Amino acid sequence: MAVDNGSRAIGLPDDELIRKYVHGCHILHYYNIVDAYGHISVRLSESVFMMSRYMAPALVSSAQDMVLYDVESGEALKKDAPKGFSERYIHSEVYKAYPNVQAVVHSHSLEVIPFSISSTPLRACFHIAGFLGTGVPVWDAATVYKENPQASNDMLVRSTEMGASLAKALGPADDEGLPKYPVALMRGHGFVATANSLEMVIAKSIYTIHNARVQRSAMAISGGMEGVHFFSEREAHDTALTAMAGAAKPWPLWVAEVECHPLYKNNV
Ligand SMILES: [Zn+2]
Repeated sequence: MAVDNGSRAIGLPDDELIRKYVHGCHILHYYNIVDAYGHISVRLSESVFMMSRYMAPALVSSAQDMVLYDVESGEALKKDAPKGFSERYIHSEVYKAYPNVQAVVHSHSLEVIPFSISSTPLRACFHIAGFLGTGVPVWDAATVYKENPQASNDMLVRSTEMGASLAKALGPADDEGLPKYPVALMRGHGFVATANSLEMVIAKSIYTIHNARVQRSAMAISGGMEGVHFFSEREAHDTALTAMAGAAKPWPLWVAEVECHPLYKNNV
């Protein structure tokens, strides 16, 4: 843990992790997982996670942009912390429910929205996206706000209650403390992706989008779901294992791509 020297918050992790986090923000933007909206977080301990202040991920650049949050409450550790994201409860409740989730992405990607508002499930049909399995769950914010007439119907995850409901959609925790479903769609909103590392959650986010594109293309040329040859449960399982084993490979390429792009600054 770093010492507060007046320029950085107490408790920030070492520069290596912050630098990796900033790269992660940029990679998500480079691959159109996020635009001005959407966010990524990384767990620092059982009870604390880190994410940027309220800003577009492409513009995150330094340790001063980081905010530490309490997993239990979803609130910033420091009372005078910069403004955070209203949907930080997505992250806090996922960390609370799944002890080995180390990183979380929330995206508003248009690529997945059709699968969240129709009866067509998103499912694995591309070998690097086997982790999607034979059907990605869809969480509906209305299941929470219909119980509370006072709550906004704006689809956003604005409370621990809504975050807990979303986290539950990822299914039970397995023996490794990870959710049964690493990704869940959010009706009319986007998706949440989870993983046991920052690199892996970015890989899962990118390949969720790629699978959605492939599936839509296949459905368009074959007239719907019936004509598409999806993966079996075994194929999805085995392709997921293979892809995870090679997950470290793309990271240096992704970092190189954003480091030479003039939009992105990483001053850590
Ligand atoms: Zn959102």
